[in-house]
Amino acid sequence: MPLLKALGGTSDILPEETQRWIAIEEAARRIFALYGYREIRTPLIEEAAVFTSSLGEAAEIVTKQMYLFEDRGGRTVALRPEGTASAVRAFNEQGLDKRGGLTRWYYLGPMFRAERPQAGRRRQFHQIGAEVFGSASPFQDVELLLLLTRLLSAWKVEGWALHLNSLGCRADRANIRQLVAEKLSLQCDRLCKDCQVRLTKNPLRILDCKQKPCQEASRGIDVTEAICSACRDHLKQVIGALSDLQVPYERDPHLVRGLDYYTRTCFEVIHSGLGAQDALGGGGRYDDLVEQMGGSSVPAIGFAVGAERLLMVRKETGSVAASGLTPNVFVATVEAADIPRAIHAAECLREKGIAVCANLEDRPLKRQMEQASKLGCRFVLMQGESEKTKGVMALKDMEARTQQELPQSTWLATLEELLAP
Ligand code: AMP
Repeated sequence: MPLLKALGGTSDILPEETQRWIAIEEAARRIFALYGYREIRTPLIEEAAVFTSSLGEAAEIVTKQMYLFEDRGGRTVALRPEGTASAVRAFNEQGLDKRGGLTRWYYLGPMFRAERPQAGRRRQFHQIGAEVFGSASPFQDVELLLLLTRLLSAWKVEGWALHLNSLGCRADRANIRQLVAEKLSLQCDRLCKDCQVRLTKNPLRILDCKQKPCQEASRGIDVTEAICSACRDHLKQVIGALSDLQVPYERDPHLVRGLDYYTRTCFEVIHSGLGAQDALGGGGRYDDLVEQMGGSSVPAIGFAVGAERLLMVRKETGSVAASGLTPNVFVATVEAADIPRAIHAAECLREKGIAVCANLEDRPLKRQMEQASKLGCRFVLMQGESEKTKGVMALKDMEARTQQELPQSTWLATLEELLAP
């Protein structure tokens, strides 16, 4: 049988890397808690309608990237391509839309999009995201952005830029489309083939086309020229408070995000270290989505950061990779018959919270020593014939290159003391 491999665009996160993942997850949990967010875990598969009814029929995620299949019961299900739609589904399903007040959630986990795999673009990737339901206040937007910037600094990301725009309310959307279509139809010939089609179907998508001629054609377009005065006011307040609080941001009149559900504030965190896929995270308000998905009218805002891209840009200190619970003690055996006693000794140490590996193979002591140093164990514990007769344990300190004998009755307490932080 040929060697089986992980699917393209998916990868194993091997033990050498998991410590880096745990570090960013732990930092995220700590920062989310500071802002009163609690973790939600939604299923990885959902009825496809959860996404088709929310992200927009024309959104690329829906038309080209969603993993869709029929389950055994004939239902059309999808692997979740993002977190917001599932969170809203759960919010409504729990009747939280009727309860009032604020709900602050965060999530960490895998998302799936059938994209052409490349650097920073995976078919299974991970997002760390947050959603707040129940506030339409511009200061909620500001607090969420502060949370995002605090996360970035806890993750030791430098060199990021926060791009900010407003997409207006639902009533403004037609005006924005018209504005963009009018300005671009004059330059239709310059646009790429896809964008020429988009011009009539979904002109906003042209603004985030990566083709140079399309970018040049759309230069100078400001979508906020077409938003209503209430939405303009909202944007003004967000910008004012960000400036007061010295949160660095850039107004990006082109930023439209890829999904239909966004209203008013939308934003992206860009990092030049990421190359072509330069968005580290993004989000925005979605004031109509809860109602659109069958709930009451509840305003909301959220963001998601891509964990793979985060790991590509964060400044790491050596201690991150080296930290974590690694075995401190190796229990060696002189002969195979000693293995059950070695297992017992290892269990006694684990009972005390000490990480330990025991030799379980019939193999020479030299090999065991090699393994102990490969594992980074500071101590090797063993009991040869002479130690057995004397009723002691031999403890070798691999760092100090010393050896001592510990009485049977006290070896555990001594090791505990030696390894106390
Ligand atoms: P989006 O909601 O599509 O803007 O996604 C939010 C963030 O998730 C992006 O800024 C990326 O960091 C990350 N992301 C999105 N799609 C992918 C992908 N296919 N592979 C890796 N990361 C992704």
